[in-house]
Amino acid sequence: MDAIILSVGDELVLGQTIDTNSAWLSQQLATVGISVRAHATVPDDQSAIERAIRESAVSCDFLIISGGIGPTEDDLTRQALATVMGVPLEENAVWMAELHKFFEARGRPMPPINRIQAMIPRGAKMLFNTAGTAAGIYAEVEGGSGFRVQGSGNAGANPSSSLNPEPRTLNPSTCQVFVIPGVPKEMKAMFTRDILPLVKQAADGAVILSRSLHTFGLGESAIAEKLGNLMNRTRNPSVGTTVSGGVVSLRINSRFPSESQAREELAKTEEACRAALGDLIYGQDEQSLAEVVASQLFADTTAKQFAPAVATAESCTGGLLAKMLTDVPGSSRYFRQGYVTYSNEAKHDLLNVPKELIAQHGAVSKEVAEAMARGAQTQSGAAYTFAITGIAGPDGGTPQKPVGTVWIALAHPQGVQCRVFLFPGDREMVRDRSAKMALTLLRFQLLGKPLPF
Ligand code: ATP
Ligand code: MG
Repeated sequence: MDAIILSVGDELVLGQTIDTNSAWLSQQLATVGISVRAHATVPDDQSAIERAIRESAVSCDFLIISGGIGPTEDDLTRQALATVMGVPLEENAVWMAELHKFFEARGRPMPPINRIQAMIPRGAKMLFNTAGTAAGIYAEVEGGSGFRVQGSGNAGANPSSSLNPEPRTLNPSTCQVFVIPGVPKEMKAMFTRDILPLVKQAADGAVILSRSLHTFGLGESAIAEKLGNLMNRTRNPSVGTTVSGGVVSLRINSRFPSESQAREELAKTEEACRAALGDLIYGQDEQSLAEVVASQLFADTTAKQFAPAVATAESCTGGLLAKMLTDVPGSSRYFRQGYVTYSNEAKHDLLNVPKELIAQHGAVSKEVAEAMARGAQTQSGAAYTFAITGIAGPDGGTPQKPVGTVWIALAHPQGVQCRVFLFPGDREMVRDRSAKMALTLLRFQLLGKPLPF
């Protein structure tokens, strides 16, 4: 069974307000096993809303519309729905009484424009709003994708919370349309109380459980190649990849009739993904790379012995690595200090990098990166010290050292490891990937393993 989520509002289409309602609704629907087929957004324009309702109703079982049921002239969702249903709007006496009570309680008469908020299409049901004046609407529209429901549902499955408690059976050839307020707080209250129980019953208890696994260092296609058949489009649990800030994340969605089965199958697929990618996976769900490295440092005996054990010497990243390392609460337990040695003079004055070394090899070189890391180690007394020196661009590249060339060194109690990378993208991307790669170097150092790429 599936749903389409339609958001109505000029401010959404103009990009002035971010449509958080759709994201929240999708997450809620997933918990009861409803697949969301599409998100659509239309302006406060009646014909656009009508068109979206018509097009959606023929291809989904549930259409959830948020917004456009306020009292002003730009609120046109109820009119659009009535037009699609081919029925007039009728006054709902119960909600009219509620509106009068709402304004009486505030010591003023109801403004005439609010009358429209008690109007719903003939044959539709009204959904109670406990937080505002916009009642919701529940209606059936021709369409649907032909699902079967066992038993019967009712709009507002909890009779005490709904003004429409009488049971009704869902019709497989129709689309169940719910119109709810745009105001997120009101929308959430109405959806949770009146709509979720209904769709849950229709969904026959299916659930979708999800897990994200994060990798850094390889591109999306290389990760996909390693996952092979696990990314098969017809597979359940499904495995997909997304990229953000150089982090390639696997998203596993497990959709099964029971929660226990969904959980079991999710665990099996997660295990298979972990087996395919090994240590390339650094964390899951909300975990950041820096948080993972922080927890490694908290557990590392050398880091504990030399606490705070980490120092940074940064050139092209200008302190970004130090920022990432100190983003984590409790970082004072491992972060000692950072040097931002942007100029050659600073590399010499603060880190004792010989001037001749810079003259001979250039500031962006293996020799200088290693000397910076060792200098930071000697100067600070930290056990693990990073050095980053590179060309972030947009200027400064040469054929031998193009923009994106970055040397990263990590000095540790057993020696120094140093690698060169060629990061793609603009200045911001090169700096971001450099700092994340430095964290990755330390992650593998603390794992006692070589970089797998
Ligand atoms: P209602 O149907 O509840 O009367 P409305 O569309 O008439 O909603 P508006 O005044 O347009 O009410 O919107 C109310 C508030 O809710 C605004 O701040 C608006 O930006 C916000 N809002 C509307 N839709 C969304 C959405 N999809 N995601 C996040 N915020 C939204
Ligand atoms: Mg609006």
